[in-house]
Amino acid sequence: MYRIPDNNTGAINHFQDYAEKVKLVVSDYYAKQSSEWCKKYTGKFLERVISSDTTLTNTGSLLEILLIGDFRKQKDLIILIDKELDAEKINQTDVKNVFMQTMSDLFVDTFYNKNTFFNKNKHIERVGVEVCPYCGRNYVFSVKHPTKSNPNTRIKPQIDHFLPKSEYPYLALNYYNLIPSCSTCNERPSKGTNDPIGNDRVHEYLMQPREFRSEDIEFSYIPNTSFYRDFSVKVDMKCSNPDLNKGYKKWLGLDKLYEKHNGEVSRMFVQLEAVIADKYKDYLKNKFKVPSDYLQSVPFILFGYSLSDDQAPFIQLHKFKKDIFKQIKRDFGDINQ
Ligand SMILES: [Zn+2]
Repeated sequence: MYRIPDNNTGAINHFQDYAEKVKLVVSDYYAKQSSEWCKKYTGKFLERVISSDTTLTNTGSLLEILLIGDFRKQKDLIILIDKELDAEKINQTDVKNVFMQTMSDLFVDTFYNKNTFFNKNKHIERVGVEVCPYCGRNYVFSVKHPTKSNPNTRIKPQIDHFLPKSEYPYLALNYYNLIPSCSTCNERPSKGTNDPIGNDRVHEYLMQPREFRSEDIEFSYIPNTSFYRDFSVKVDMKCSNPDLNKGYKKWLGLDKLYEKHNGEVSRMFVQLEAVIADKYKDYLKNKFKVPSDYLQSVPFILFGYSLSDDQAPFIQLHKFKKDIFKQIKRDFGDINQ
């Protein structure tokens, strides 16, 4: 759980890799249909894809929105397609089925699912995150795992379609919709095919990882009665509204999973106590001539990395530790005195 940093270059490279290939396959597919079929909604939609410029970006073409439109553009497109399909329904009853099936054949089966077309490992590397953006607990795996029969085998790369490909097949190859994740979050019954915006397209059960707002989820701890002996705590996770509870707790089960990290809180307490102890401060000052502002970097000493959010894509439990550290600091009082 963190915001995937903006990486415009990744999207541009994605467009350059796939736009022309998509256009060729769609043109070929279109050419094989009857002229009657081409006049209907799906045919007209494909025509708009075929007529898109594949050498430029920021033209706002349909192909560009499909491949690299950001979350806002994706939602605008969904609403537009919903509206157009509704309007067409008056003339053709199965217009939606034909459209969805065609989009699924092309964008899911022919493009996304084919290793020879879409390179999942390259995508994960391109997005450049190492920890799962949904849970922040597990690493995203994309490593070679050679077997006797195939030296190039890799551990199955996990990529979640934030807007699920079963509901929005036309976004199955969209750069921003393809979220590198861990297998726990990606599979059922976790995120699976659950739709983060819901059937009416207006909910926010999960935050799009490119637009994650850290302040809308907060971790804290409640000391147990034996805390004075063993530092044991109960970890709590709060979401800012009921919709987010559904996504992060009911679907991903993160409140339960994070309860398993209560030991982490105890460790932080013990370490922090050692770091701020006066004796320890004096020892560092006398022995190593440590500058007096040294102790202001306590988080770094405690964790071995900075608490700045730009570290979140690479460090497990980053947000969790940051929130807990804030509370410990409050409970301890000013640690920089
Ligand atoms: Zn995860």
